[in-house]
Amino acid sequence: MGDGEVKAMGLENIRDLVDNYKEEYGVEMYINLDHSPSVDDCKRAIDAGYEFIHIDISQANHEATTEEIIEKTREVVEYAKFTGALVESEPHYFGGSSNVHTEGIDFEEIKKTFSTPEGIKSFVDATGIDTFAAAIGNLHGKYPVPKVLDLELLQSLRDASDVQLSLHGGSGTPLHYFEEAARIGVSKININSDMRYVFRKTLEKVLAENPDEYAVVKQGVGWSYMPI
Ligand SMILES: [Zn+2]
Repeated sequence: MGDGEVKAMGLENIRDLVDNYKEEYGVEMYINLDHSPSVDDCKRAIDAGYEFIHIDISQANHEATTEEIIEKTREVVEYAKFTGALVESEPHYFGGSSNVHTEGIDFEEIKKTFSTPEGIKSFVDATGIDTFAAAIGNLHGKYPVPKVLDLELLQSLRDASDVQLSLHGGSGTPLHYFEEAARIGVSKININSDMRYVFRKTLEKVLAENPDEYAVVKQGVGWSYMPI
């Protein structure tokens, strides 16, 4: 759940929704507050029982200093100890946006923002985070060209720290990369744009097929959902 989604639906509403589904289906489900821009938002989510908190100071301010990012991440790590929520972060702005892009990927440019073994170790030591959002060629958004991940770098990040590793910006990544990344030790892969794309395309199709239908939810006519 990104910041915009949480604010649109309501922090507590999402918690209740997930708890209801957990009970109804008898499965484990957790809520990940993704790319939260502020310490206060993170604290509110921890209070509401969100299990996984991604504090992303550099998303809100691309110019945020390393000191500021470390200090605010530490504050969330400390606060999360009250509930045991896991905390994820990264030391600098992570590129792209969760949308459909028409431009290609400037591989040389994104290499400048890749994680380093020294960087992961010092950031984890300084903050005490549970999960490090690695940058190895993953990039937010869906692009006309496939992503290319540097698995050698991923292995060296794995060797440099015991922290859990995540990969944001997974949309449009060939599957074999995910399989190899999981083997190396990545424990969370974020895919958003691919789902947004399918959702929108499906919505357009359903609306086009049912030009006279105005009910948001209607059963028994061949389509039973409309997003709210
Ligand atoms: Zn992300």
